[in-house]
Amino acid sequence: MSGEQQNVFGSSPSSSALLAGSEQISGTDSFTWHESMDITPMDFPYLQQLLTESYDEWKKDSSGLPMVSESDWCIMGPEGEWITGNPKLYDYFSTGEDIILKRALVNKATAAGPGEDRHGAAIICASPVFSRFHHDLFAVLISVSRSGADTHQIEFMTESAAIILKTCFYRRFEYIFIKDMAQIQRKAEHEANRRSNLFQYVKRMHTKIDVDGVLTEVLESVLGLYPYVDVRLFMSQDHHSSHPLVCPLLLHHWQEEVYMRTFMEGVLTVSEHLEGPDLMVEIGVPMGGKQGVYGVLYLRIKHELMAEMDLELLGMMADAAGTAFENAKLYEQSNLMIHELRVINELTQQLNKSLQLSEIYQFANDELLKILAAEYCCIMCYSEALGGLEVVSCNVPELAKEVFEKNYGLAGHIYHSKQPMFLADYTVERPAESKLMDSTGSNSMIGTPLTVNGEIRGVILLTHRRRHYFSYDNYRLLQALTSHIGLAVGNAFLHAEVRWMANRDMLTELYARHYLDEVIHDCQNRDFCGSLIVVDIDQFKQVNDTFGHQRGDKILKQVSSIVKTSIRQSDIAARWGGEELAVYLPGLGIEQAVQVAERIRLRVADETDPRVTVSCGISEWNWEHDRISVESLFYRADMALYDAKHSGRNRIVVEKREASE
Ligand code: GH3
Ligand code: MG
Ligand code: MG
Repeated sequence: MSGEQQNVFGSSPSSSALLAGSEQISGTDSFTWHESMDITPMDFPYLQQLLTESYDEWKKDSSGLPMVSESDWCIMGPEGEWITGNPKLYDYFSTGEDIILKRALVNKATAAGPGEDRHGAAIICASPVFSRFHHDLFAVLISVSRSGADTHQIEFMTESAAIILKTCFYRRFEYIFIKDMAQIQRKAEHEANRRSNLFQYVKRMHTKIDVDGVLTEVLESVLGLYPYVDVRLFMSQDHHSSHPLVCPLLLHHWQEEVYMRTFMEGVLTVSEHLEGPDLMVEIGVPMGGKQGVYGVLYLRIKHELMAEMDLELLGMMADAAGTAFENAKLYEQSNLMIHELRVINELTQQLNKSLQLSEIYQFANDELLKILAAEYCCIMCYSEALGGLEVVSCNVPELAKEVFEKNYGLAGHIYHSKQPMFLADYTVERPAESKLMDSTGSNSMIGTPLTVNGEIRGVILLTHRRRHYFSYDNYRLLQALTSHIGLAVGNAFLHAEVRWMANRDMLTELYARHYLDEVIHDCQNRDFCGSLIVVDIDQFKQVNDTFGHQRGDKILKQVSSIVKTSIRQSDIAARWGGEELAVYLPGLGIEQAVQVAERIRLRVADETDPRVTVSCGISEWNWEHDRISVESLFYRADMALYDAKHSGRNRIVVEKREASE
């Protein structure tokens, strides 16, 4: 036997009655492990309860035996102290003075003999009970018999009873170990179960590739384990979850809140407080990944349920959730990027299909509304001619074509600061007035300058009536899309410029001759009649000689400008060649053409400086003529001009039809 104190009972409540002396005996291989366990004298002071229980059990088992039931019984401890038994015997035996008992204790053997307590004469028999392997006397069973049986019989009966009592005692004693074992077994099963649950949970977690799925899984799993617990998940990310138990972790939350402390310190936090009569416990479990803490799993329960909480398990679950959340977030972000690239690509392709500015603005407007799921969109461009920001496309009809001062409103703010703007709540933050926001009742806005070839040309605003509607991703995407819209607008500008240049004469900014040819040709297919005026500056060679070629150019420009401002919008003025100009008047006959030519002639004579005059030749066509051709029209006008020159200049001559036909 080892002299060391071993506590084989662990901390089991049932074994707390026994001290640490019990031991397992070596060399008892033929016994099962619990049969080889025994008590030692160090356990003796703690045997009271076990002996009492054993005595009760023995009494029950033996109550049917006549000799047992005819006697009174009690158990004394190894020091002769009262343990338990028939209360009748207590007064007499509790003094420890009985001679028979003393004999049994001293001799460590059964003793019997006549005795007399206050109930009268009897045969008293005391039979010691020894420990299993070392035969330490740990109890004495006493019988007090008044049945008249002889001493031998009583001795035999009491010894037999002591053996049965010992069996009962050791059964109870082993039961303590078996109970402990069962408890260990239960714990092991619980642990295995926990591991298996955790494994399944982690497996499920890692199949989730959407952030919402991860958050839902962690909440459902915790609620599955602890259905009676008040659970919430506080998330720090800019993340909208459909799950009602996911709440935003706002930095203005009170720092002392358990979930705030958990988030700041990144460690599991437990806090108790009284709520009325109830002691409540709040638990914050950080949900972190490799790159930081994303949120806090928050639980609130009554204190009495705390024993059932497995904080370690919750910690492991939150860790797995944090990693899964991080992965899902990365996956979402890469998906978002792919989506954005696709959207940008599609928009660019569509935008590039058109070189018409108005079409581009309209298309951009429609697409931005769709892509960013906004309610209102307004595209404005600065117009030199109108002196402000002109609404070029907007889905609010009352704003269409409106022109705003370039300092006005949110657009003015963006136009001047050259910076994009993000407004989450217009009722709280109001950097400028806005007709768009007010007339639509919008509260959220994202806006960005529209840059064309590195120059700010306008502003794009997108709005929604809901507060905090747009995300930061929306804001970024709008900027990316706007840069592509800017490119398309730039291309359209360039295209318009090239087209304008292709059909114009650069010096006079009148149309080029080939364009006039095309127009007359088209008109002849469409109209009933039309007239052509050819205008030639008189003695221009002389003007050049006198004032120089540069002044000559200026005069040519002056005359061109007079021609341009003397005709209708639908008339076409072109540079015919050299200092000769031509005007085609669709739908006008020769008399009206003469009036136009006369107006030009008079104004040139009046307004040019140095003063020059012009001569004009006029021809016309109408649907009754047999041969209608651009060439013949020019030829006839030219002939008339020739006549004008030869008849003194500064005059108008109408074609002679007979001569040309
Ligand atoms: P008129 O027509 O009255 O018979 O006399 P003119 O001196 O104008 O004679 P003509 O029409 O034959 O001469 C055209 C002159 O116009 C020749 C050239 O010096 C001048 N000219 C033609 N194109 C330009 C131009 O682009 N700029 C300048 N400065 N002069 C031009
Ligand atoms: Mg001339
Ligand atoms: Mg000429």
